[in-house]
Amino acid sequence: MPLDELVITRAIMESYMDKFLGSLDSDVAIVGAGPAGLVCAYYLARGGARVAVYERKLSIGGGIWGGGAMFNQVVVQEEARGILDDMEVSYRPYERGEGYYVVDAVELSCALGLKAVRAGVKIFNLFTVVDVKVSGEEERVSGLVLSWTPVELGGLHVDPVTIGARYVVDGTGHDAEVAKVVQEKLGKELNTPTGKVVGERSMWADFGEKSVPQCTGEVYPGLFVIGMAATACYGTHRMGPVFGGMLLSGEKAARMILDRLKG
Ligand SMILES: Cc1cc2nc3c(=O)[nH]c(=O)nc-3n(C[C@H](O)[C@H](O)[C@H](O)COP(=O)(O)OP(=O)(O)OC[C@H]3O[C@@H](n4cnc5c(N)ncnc54)[C@H](O)[C@@H]3O)c2cc1C
Repeated sequence: MPLDELVITRAIMESYMDKFLGSLDSDVAIVGAGPAGLVCAYYLARGGARVAVYERKLSIGGGIWGGGAMFNQVVVQEEARGILDDMEVSYRPYERGEGYYVVDAVELSCALGLKAVRAGVKIFNLFTVVDVKVSGEEERVSGLVLSWTPVELGGLHVDPVTIGARYVVDGTGHDAEVAKVVQEKLGKELNTPTGKVVGERSMWADFGEKSVPQCTGEVYPGLFVIGMAATACYGTHRMGPVFGGMLLSGEKAARMILDRLKG
């Protein structure tokens, strides 16, 4: 049978609209498809939540792909090995140190994305989150304002659109972009030592890795922070290309949010 270009176009448009409209009002909207965001999305969906992820770039995986200094291998420590198993990622112990595992960055990026999608997560790439939607007297975060990334890159004069969510997760990495929106546009205090995004401190891998899961949590009503965004919000130390903390942070936020959704 000859291929019909118009059928192809219609198939893309209709199925995309189904996916987008199905996520218009989700349980959890995650900003950023880095390791923390994808892991969080996977465990939330596995726990029965309706989850949408919005990613600025064409590709998902955030900072995984480049490994350390573009050597595309990453290290994961013992504490996060169970998450690698859940994600069916292969790894091997590094023989010159106990509790260090080496992982192919390409496999890790692909596996986290595949597990999340197969668990039911809807991922929307090429969307830049430019603002939050708030509601109620306390101005609780209850959704996101989305602009197409090419619109932002082109500086085009085009209004964004809004989606709703019971919880929003900031997984935007070093810049903690969503927390900064709350701080700057709403002028609200965050649940951090200074009430603001403190900014990450210099390299200290051991301290930094242990502190990421501790910093993970609700930084403002309706808004959770994970991964490097949590490090930046709470002003703890960066840790270089060891990724266990990112994975553990995503998993912890998922547990916390699932408890709230059930409560
Ligand atoms: C300069 C630099 C320094 C680094 N230093 C460290 C370090 O000290 N320690 C460390 O562990 N890792 C470091 N990394 C590697 C890497 O960033 C992190 O380890 C890891 O990838 C962070 O995971 P994450 O999930 O928190 O965020 P990321 O992997 O950074 O993922 C965040 C994702 O959010 C997306 N995003 C951001 N803003 C928006 C928005 N407004 N709307 C939609 N999407 C958005 C980004 O495109 C990205 O895909 C560094 C990377 C860079 C580039």
